[in-house]
Amino acid sequence: MTPAISIRNLKKSYEDTVALKGIDMTIGDGEFFGLLGPNGAGKTTTINILTGLVRKNEGNTEIFGKDTVKDYRFTRSQVGISAQEFTQDWFFPLDKLLYFQAGYYGIPKAKAKDRVDELLSRLGLEEKRESRLRQLSGGMKRRFQIAKALVHDPRILILDEPTAGVDVELRHELWQYFRELHQAGKTILLTTHYIEEAEMLCENVTIIDKGRVITEGSPKALTNQLGKAGITINVTDTEADIESCLKDFTYTREDGRLHFTTQDPEEAMPEIINVLTRQGCHIQRVETTKSSLEDVFLSLTGKGINE
Ligand code: ADP
Repeated sequence: MTPAISIRNLKKSYEDTVALKGIDMTIGDGEFFGLLGPNGAGKTTTINILTGLVRKNEGNTEIFGKDTVKDYRFTRSQVGISAQEFTQDWFFPLDKLLYFQAGYYGIPKAKAKDRVDELLSRLGLEEKRESRLRQLSGGMKRRFQIAKALVHDPRILILDEPTAGVDVELRHELWQYFRELHQAGKTILLTTHYIEEAEMLCENVTIIDKGRVITEGSPKALTNQLGKAGITINVTDTEADIESCLKDFTYTREDGRLHFTTQDPEEAMPEIINVLTRQGCHIQRVETTKSSLEDVFLSLTGKGINE
């Protein structure tokens, strides 16, 4: 199947900065994909090259199999982008701005009206349709930006730091909305430095640092590779023959506290509990500690992603 986005050996230098040193990335049709990395890693440059805002020096970028430079019109029509920085369209009401955007993509008036009404309602901006952008809160501006990206119903939605500066409640609402869009079949490319956001939403991620890919895969596979996940179980009956029944597991023991190390706690936990219960142990308490993508980044670069 043709991928939604394909990036090969992408290189870009600005006057005195090498921003991308040969990036490769493939995003499948319908995938929820995260592009992660610290500030200055090259995330926005990558996105801007995909959408034609920045010119690449070397490499290939394709959207649904078409070159983003040679087939600019087609590839642009397939993508909606919610940029990190707010647009400065201060003079028109929100609905007008959305109609302009629809017009820009050649969407007939009647269809545009349905689409604008639907998006304003879905993103909780109905009451603000006649307001100007400067009258909106930061969270509302963010929602408007997402509506604008979706007016022409693109197959690919690019979200550049979509929850930056957004309060916790709205963040959860937006996550829910992104999940719905994904379930409806949209391909989503999310850039974020909120690691938790990517871990929760993305099926696959690519982590970049200083213009290079440092690792890629599903959040689960990447964190499992570290093999640092742990399960601690407190049992009351320490007379039971725990040693022989737990011989297949890696663990240490301090009286009634058992510490297990496992690659995949979700799989190991029910098995361990089962074995202990069969042995007549009474389980008092279970705790798990899991590695995060932050740990993955730390182990590969020796620094935290937001340092
Ligand atoms: P990120 O989005 O991951 O924070 P960027 O793509 O914005 O990273 O930036 C990558 C590097 O390129 C940084 O070192 C940044 O300072 C530099 N850079 C980005 N845009 C420009 C520009 N227009 N002119 C010069 N340098 C730039």
